[in-house]
Amino acid sequence: MTAQLKLANAVLWSPDLPEPVDGADILVAGGRVAEIVPAGTGGPAETVVDCAGRWVLPGLIDSHMHSWGARSPNPVHWVVGQSPLSWFRAVGDLRRVLDAGFTTVREAGGPLGPGLRDAIAEGEVAGPRVIPAHLGISRTGGHGDCHSLPIAWVGQQPYMARIADGPDEVRTAVRMAARDGGEWVKIWASGAIALSDHDSPEHLHFSVEELEVICREAHALGMTVGAHVEFPSAIKACVRAGVDVIEHGFILDEETCLLMAERGVPVVSTMALLHRYLRWDGPEITEAQVEMARTLLPSVHASALLAYRSGVTVAIGSDSFAEPLTPFGANAEELLALREAGLPAEACLTAATINGARVAGREKDLGSVTVGKIADLIVTGRTSPLDDLNAVVGPDKIALVLRDGVPVAGTGLRRSISL
Ligand SMILES: [Zn+2]
Repeated sequence: MTAQLKLANAVLWSPDLPEPVDGADILVAGGRVAEIVPAGTGGPAETVVDCAGRWVLPGLIDSHMHSWGARSPNPVHWVVGQSPLSWFRAVGDLRRVLDAGFTTVREAGGPLGPGLRDAIAEGEVAGPRVIPAHLGISRTGGHGDCHSLPIAWVGQQPYMARIADGPDEVRTAVRMAARDGGEWVKIWASGAIALSDHDSPEHLHFSVEELEVICREAHALGMTVGAHVEFPSAIKACVRAGVDVIEHGFILDEETCLLMAERGVPVVSTMALLHRYLRWDGPEITEAQVEMARTLLPSVHASALLAYRSGVTVAIGSDSFAEPLTPFGANAEELLALREAGLPAEACLTAATINGARVAGREKDLGSVTVGKIADLIVTGRTSPLDDLNAVVGPDKIALVLRDGVPVAGTGLRRSISL
């Protein structure tokens, strides 16, 4: 059989391999990885890309970002600024994420996720595979509310969450997410370090009963629940109530990590966002919030390392939500933050590949370069990412992106092959 495409003479890294394979040919057929063989030993292919010693890795997975085309970190703009212009900006944002080597993103709350997913799947616009939550759930005054606007406005123009209080309302909100094409349920179960004035990251924002209703209802619909939650006591309450994924989980102690490891609950690390807060000098993030991020950062780094050492599955999320604070295409900077926290380079790459697939419940199809899996692959340069993770950070490092076995982006090699 003639394969549709062959990546020849590559150095292959995949999280399921004990070590990189120098001199591999990867053959793609029917959108999936058909064969991995020593260079020069495989069958023919319609298109051959000579990687000439470049690295091939699984397409990267951003497990937490938002696509609504925002150009300000001020939530007021997200409510009143929803317009066709922001929708088209969201399309451009996702194009840049694809260029940076991300073939799958988990959309963590926003009105456009299902539409973007479908338009990309249809081939109308270029972008990564989108796994959307659609609108998540926040309580009145929670992090998904917009505190400085009248509550009716936020209700009419929800930007990332439905406001719901009490078991009946949260149950309906779960059903609405499913109705609107969401594939998982995002909740804001605590406040945040920045970007909402009247909530605290230390407070649990739902009652145990509300959390249990959300989880029961979501699971009954075949959906997982990812909870924005930042401090140990709220995280433990979420895990005990049945939450499947901890989003952010900035501060973790030993007891919390053990509980998460025992129950198989992963954390999506979003530390690079805090680094960005420290560099931001606009009025949207107050001096007190910057100070809080600065004070917490060493503990945040230590928490990520503790999670990894405790056997918690760590995935990466850029939490990209608004240019220019969180540039789309810089998503892989979370790898650098994890490395700075002390995780080995291999673990950082694992976080951005198979662990992202696990968070999304897609590990049978995504997250590694394995025969039979979907051929989401990236070709980078000749620098080993195990020596320097910068080798996979940014669009200029990504020579070619295959999604479903089809070349969809890339700065270098794509020009040399006929499409
Ligand atoms: Zn987020």
